Amino acid sequence: MVDEILVIDGSQTNRTVSKVKLAAACYAPLLASTGADGMDAAARLRPGVILLDTNLPDMPALDVLRRLRADPRSRAAPVIVTGAEDPALRVALLRAGAEDCLARPVDDALLLARIRALLRMRPSTEEVTPLGMAEEAEPFEGPPLIGLVTERADLAQRWQAALAGTGRHRTLALTREEALSDARCPPDVYLVDGDLGGPGAGLRFLSDLRSRLATRAIPVCMVQPRFTAEGAAMAFDIGANDVVPARFDPAELALRLGSLSRLKKRMERRRASVEDGLRMAMVDPLTGLYNRRFAMPQLEAMAERASTDVADMAILMLDLDHFKSINDRWGHPVGDAVLVEVARRLATNLRPSDLIARIGGEEFLIALPDLHLAAARGVADRLCAAVQATPIRLPSGEALEVTISIGLATRGRRGFEPVTDTVERADKALLAAKAAGRNQVTVGTCPAQGYRPH
Ligand code: GH3
Ligand code: MG
Ligand code: MG
Repeated sequence: MVDEILVIDGSQTNRTVSKVKLAAACYAPLLASTGADGMDAAARLRPGVILLDTNLPDMPALDVLRRLRADPRSRAAPVIVTGAEDPALRVALLRAGAEDCLARPVDDALLLARIRALLRMRPSTEEVTPLGMAEEAEPFEGPPLIGLVTERADLAQRWQAALAGTGRHRTLALTREEALSDARCPPDVYLVDGDLGGPGAGLRFLSDLRSRLATRAIPVCMVQPRFTAEGAAMAFDIGANDVVPARFDPAELALRLGSLSRLKKRMERRRASVEDGLRMAMVDPLTGLYNRRFAMPQLEAMAERASTDVADMAILMLDLDHFKSINDRWGHPVGDAVLVEVARRLATNLRPSDLIARIGGEEFLIALPDLHLAAARGVADRLCAAVQATPIRLPSGEALEVTISIGLATRGRRGFEPVTDTVERADKALLAAKAAGRNQVTVGTCPAQGYRPH
């Protein structure tokens, strides 16, 4: 899919030039000639980046930006403002949520590098919520910690003094080595001297930060002593999130650092929610064991390995005995507590290579790779004993005797039986164990002859 870039610009000439340049860079340009059309396109088409020019016929760019930010459909779209020369206007635009303000004439290489850097930070498909971008309300955050990375003490002091006036940050001066080795208190944002380690050598340090797990998700603002569009473009492409000249405006820098810190927090929240989602898709929240959906493909993979490794494999189906009566007598929460304790006892009696899953209300599936029938039967007997041996203590102080029944089926060496058939044989064996009086292990019949060609 080609990334769409929305150009909101009142000048016909500028729009045409932008269109040609963006298309040449393999983006899909979307053009709007007024603020109103631009906001409409941003909400409907959700472009990857918005280029908003200050020259608009219907309203000031600052108003457009504020309204883009107020609309949940365009709130997360990165905005680069072009043509804002007045320092007070730049500060107002950055405060209203612009990612950057570039002066006209805009350097093409820098603009494209800026666009690439913004597109790189977009959430991936799996991080996008059903509502659209991850546009949750921003929780309150304390003042961000800015790591000032320079080997010149006088420069660190100058930066500290400049930022102190803005009153929104904590700062920490770091040498190059400290920044790369000290992961104890990683800052929220790095402000990096472009001459770190020698004239222009800050880029190598930037690439180093980006290559290390501990630091690669921390946004970086580069300070370029000899600011050139070409140098800034290179810094963006190596992984900088922002680039400022050495003689920066402190108020502007403070806003830029604040927005980078919010970017980091937003990415952390996205990562955490993706991890939560993945865990929820795999794990049963009550017992912490794998759920059926996750277990079945795992079981297939285990069976596949077993047939190529020429090893035996056993499948156990377990079911709590008379569990309904526990619920009826003690209530559902006690039933839940019993399930948790039984799951714990089962799991602690298995090897790390075994698979255990809760596949139904009070039913569990266990797969034991590399075990022949006699050994698997030994494990099943041990599991029955582990549940029965010690009564489960209830919160009320009473002790409850709980038992389980197990159906066992093995897949022989080079067995070509589909694993679902093995599960079915284990299931039938479980029914037999119940019929025979519960609290016992029953071994299923052998697979049909046709599955064992030799
Ligand atoms: P049997 O010995 O034949 O297995 O009898 P049983 O009572 O255990 O079997 P049955 O299938 O009749 O009942 C299972 C019960 O498990 C019914 C349901 O209310 C209960 N159950 C299922 N899931 C949960 C759960 O997550 N928590 C609790 N507390 N109970 C559950
Ligand atoms: Mg049951
Ligand atoms: Mg039961």
